[in-house]
Formats: sequence, C-alpha cells, structure tokens
Amino acid sequence: MEVLLAHEYGFCFGVERAVEMVEDALAEGGGPIRSLGPLIHNAQEMERLGGKGVSTIDAPTEADSETVAVIRAHGVTPQVQRELEERAAQVIDATCPFVTRVQHLAERAAQQGRDVVVAGNPDHPEMIGVVGYAPQNTYVVRDAQEVAGLPPLRAPLVVSQTTIKLQTFLEVAEAVRAKSDTEPQVVNTICSATRDRQDAARALAGEVDVFYVIGGRHSSNSVKLLAVCEEQCRKSFLIETPAEINPADVIGAGRVGVTAGASTPNWLIEQVVQRLHAIGENVVAS
Ligand code: SF4
Repeated sequence: MEVLLAHEYGFCFGVERAVEMVEDALAEGGGPIRSLGPLIHNAQEMERLGGKGVSTIDAPTEADSETVAVIRAHGVTPQVQRELEERAAQVIDATCPFVTRVQHLAERAAQQGRDVVVAGNPDHPEMIGVVGYAPQNTYVVRDAQEVAGLPPLRAPLVVSQTTIKLQTFLEVAEAVRAKSDTEPQVVNTICSATRDRQDAARALAGEVDVFYVIGGRHSSNSVKLLAVCEEQCRKSFLIETPAEINPADVIGAGRVGVTAGASTPNWLIEQVVQRLHAIGENVVAS
C-alpha cells in the first residue's frame, strides 16, 4: 500500500512561525508563556505546548510582570498590544506578516483621510485587530450586499481578510466601485495558504483509493479540505489522531492519500503516515 502526501499540507507559514517563536522563547527560559487566545486551533498541539508550560489567557489584564505574552498570528489592535506591553515582562509579536500588511494598509489609508472597506467576518479576531488600526474609517463587510448599507465612502481602499474566498472579495470590490464617485484602490490581501492546500488535495484525491485529512473537526479549513477530497475520492475521512484510522477502511487500497489542515503539526502527520504504513504491512502479511 502506497501512502502519498499532498504537495502542500499542514502548518501554514504564519502558524509555523508563531509556534517557532514560542519554542524559541521556551528554550530561552524566562517567565510563564501565555498566549492571548489559543495560539493554534489544534487540540493535540495545544496539549503538547501546554505540557511545556504554555497557557492561554483571554484578556491582557491576565498578564502580569512575570508573563511572556504572545500575540498570535491573527494579530491584535494597537490598544491591546500597548496594554500587553505595559503589563507583561515581554511581548512576543507573532502576528503573521500577511496580516500585518492589511493592518498597515488600513492605517495608512486612514491617515490620508480615506475610508477602508475590508471583505471579511467582523467577528473574526483578525478583523477586530485590523479595525483597531483605523477605527474611524474602517468598515468590515461579509459580502457585496452589505456594501449597500455603508455611508458615502471617501477615496476608498478595498482589502480582504486573509482567508476569505476570492469571489467574495471581487464582488465586494465591484460593489464599492459601483457605490463610489472615485475609483477605489483595490488590494487583494488574501493569503494563498488555504487555496494551495485545497488545490493540492484536489489534485491527489483523484489518484488514491482512500484519503485522510488530518485536522480538528471544528477547524473550518480542515472541514473544507475534506469536502474537496470527497468530490474525487468517496472514501475520504477527517481524523484528529492516528488512533481514529479504522484498518478496515484501507483493506484492498493500493494508494492512500494524506493531507492536513493549516493548524496540524508535522509530528501528528508523521504519526498518521507511520500508522498507515504499519496497517499496510499487516494487511499484506495477513
Ligand atoms: S493562513 Fe496565511 S495569513 Fe493566516 S496565518 Fe497562515 S500564512 Fe498567515
């Protein structure tokens, strides 16, 4: 039985960078490391980091003068960052550079007296952080329909949450164009990590008999990956750990595909691949 990994899988650049920054801080010693909000949406990786003393806080007020506070990849508002810097012994800013770019674009446009329309989910932590950089001038809209409800826009800039669908962004940009007297500045700030993982899974799913997507059942990018795999491979499964693999599902399979959501660590992916190899050898031997 062959086990094939998708061309792109697992940790995206921003999550990998955040985990590495925390690992570096652990190696340096110092105070207790506390992430403002879960560092990563993967229960197993959070458990592993928890075993090393990394914990989660819900508000900057929970940081004290011993704390090494971590800003996760989603970023925070400048006000929250200041609060952390005032309270904590040290602040590790693991904001993904792709998110920092959106924050700075919004901030600069607001300084020029322009309005900012962001295509995204206003409740998402990344969007709450971005709005904090230009609170008077920024409007977050979920779709093109919501643009109609906005006040008149001054020389608008249109950007996007890093993880939204391209189609939604293009429709929002078009709606802003139709509403404005001046041609808006449109900057696509979507990160390709999600799409790259989906494209790679789609390409592999047509070539295998069984497909495993490793990721949290509540992780939207993992659930979407499963849907993409199911289009091409009827026997596609979403699993969180290798223990969830049912050997009966791979009996008779010549090729098994594996991919993982953007928050799934490599060590977990390796465990799944090893278990599949072990099952494959047993199936051949028996
Ligand atoms: S999905 Fe993209 S923008 Fe978000 S953390 Fe990962 S690399 Fe950064």
